[in-house]
Amino acid sequence: MRIGRKHLMLDTSWQEFSNCLGVDPDLFFPERGASTREAKEVCRGCVVKDDCLEFALANGEKFGIWGGMSERERRRIRRQRALDRQAAALTASAESA
Ligand code: SF4
Repeated sequence: MRIGRKHLMLDTSWQEFSNCLGVDPDLFFPERGASTREAKEVCRGCVVKDDCLEFALANGEKFGIWGGMSERERRRIRRQRALDRQAAALTASAESA
């Protein structure tokens, strides 16, 4: 996915190796309710899939397919990571008490 300047995480060197170079960007921003299958198929074999996903998570990308995941799938990851951080913080404070 090509990235504009508004993003916070600046290392975008991974983009050079993306599977979606030259692919119509609209494919990765399907209309609400439209299939994401084709975009995810492009992402499936992408060697920078993890970088792309982490970029989207770090920059709070709300739209489109990034790292082979939809908005909903990324929200789930963000929620799970937040819960993991809370649990780790509670464990750390319980151990130091
Ligand atoms: S994971 Fe998908 S959207 Fe991200 S760089 Fe690769 S092909 Fe493009």
